[in-house]
Amino acid sequence: MSEASHPPLAPFEEGPIGDLRRRAAAVAAAIAPDAARWDREEAFPEPSWARMRDAGLLGLTVPVAFGGEGLGVVAACAVLEELATACMSSAMVAQLYLNGPPRAIDVLGTDEQRARFLPGAASGERSFAIAISEPDAGSDATSLRTRLEPDGAGFRLHGGKCYITNGVRADTVLVFCRLAGTEGARGIGAVIVEASQDGYADPVTHPKMGGRGMPEATLAFDGVRIDPDAVLVRPDPGSSRAAAIMLRQFNPERCGNAAMTLGVARAALDASISHVRSRRQFGREIGEFQGLQWKVADMATRLHAARLLVADAAASDDGGFPEVRRTAMAKVFANETAEAVCREAIQLHGHAGYTRDLPLERYYRDVRGMSLAGGTSEIMRNVLAGEVIGRRYRQR
Ligand SMILES: Cc1cc2nc3c(=O)[nH]c(=O)nc-3n(C[C@H](O)[C@H](O)[C@H](O)COP(=O)(O)OP(=O)(O)OC[C@H]3O[C@@H](n4cnc5c(N)ncnc54)[C@H](O)[C@@H]3O)c2cc1C
Repeated sequence: MSEASHPPLAPFEEGPIGDLRRRAAAVAAAIAPDAARWDREEAFPEPSWARMRDAGLLGLTVPVAFGGEGLGVVAACAVLEELATACMSSAMVAQLYLNGPPRAIDVLGTDEQRARFLPGAASGERSFAIAISEPDAGSDATSLRTRLEPDGAGFRLHGGKCYITNGVRADTVLVFCRLAGTEGARGIGAVIVEASQDGYADPVTHPKMGGRGMPEATLAFDGVRIDPDAVLVRPDPGSSRAAAIMLRQFNPERCGNAAMTLGVARAALDASISHVRSRRQFGREIGEFQGLQWKVADMATRLHAARLLVADAAASDDGGFPEVRRTAMAKVFANETAEAVCREAIQLHGHAGYTRDLPLERYYRDVRGMSLAGGTSEIMRNVLAGEVIGRRYRQR
């Protein structure tokens, strides 16, 4: 057996994206020692939010005119992948700034809305959430019931949402809802709600499996006043355009979701490579067993393929958001690859990988939710099937 160094799994590229990765990797290195504690204590990673803000990472995708760097989904994905190698909960914080409501406001909003909300995104002063899911409208998002009752020039918002990432801390929430009296895809719209408004109930959280530093919350709206300038996508009872926007504006977040799972899986593979080179059984390093060499080779190959798909999706553009088809392919493949890589990493570590002494069980829990969030793998496959076959199959 010849000795070789352990080469980096994902060397930094030349140029601005490589520089950005280095910036994010420095933050990742600084927050890594606390990631296990935040997970154990289910504590919001406040110090890591401050580090990301100080490193200028939170405003990367906000236009320069509003204090950001005006970068796109490729840059966001590079940063999210690096952050997730250290702490998924911290990466989820960044994801909401880089690919969440600020981007939707930038692409879909008015000049006034951009001026009102985007500087606070660039500086990190505002904290965001996006609220679509409801108890009876998960995958079937166009069945949502949260409604806008006309009230003078504006509306009153009534209803509730569930599983909302950062719902506990967010002060600025992009809420998808419908005009009262409408059904299905028609009449859907989007409004921006501030948590300080009357009628906005205290959020409630549920303990969960992974990403424990970044809880999901249940939100309730009891007649929250929606002024005309808080309407991002105006509901039209005769049109399903807003429903299409609702699904499309999620594509940056889906790319970011995929990139985060790549980061976690990379950390799991990196740990596995070190482990098979140091753990000895039967008088030899376990990496000398061909069965285990092949596992590592397959993990690396699948991960590389997933990275290429995510890079391809992030670079695509469909009216300001990544393309549906490439995004769905990348998300399904990256999520499922990451889960498989994290599972194999535990297998390669034996019982040590199953303990909480090592981060591998956390990695596995952290990637698990990502194939549910932002559209499940099944729904992504439905979308893909429609794109590939060239027919939209009604699910109802
Ligand atoms: C970590 C995490 C973060 C989240 N953050 C947010 C957030 O910030 N904002 C937000 O609005 N929501 C958020 N969600 C909610 C997420 O969008 C929903 O969980 C998701 O849309 C699925 O809805 P559901 O959980 O109600 O499952 P259901 O829709 O009830 O689905 C149950 C199962 O049936 C399958 N299924 C349903 N319909 C079909 C079909 N037609 N064909 C094939 N299979 C089908 C699903 O794939 C799934 O396996 C988050 C979820 C997670 C896990």
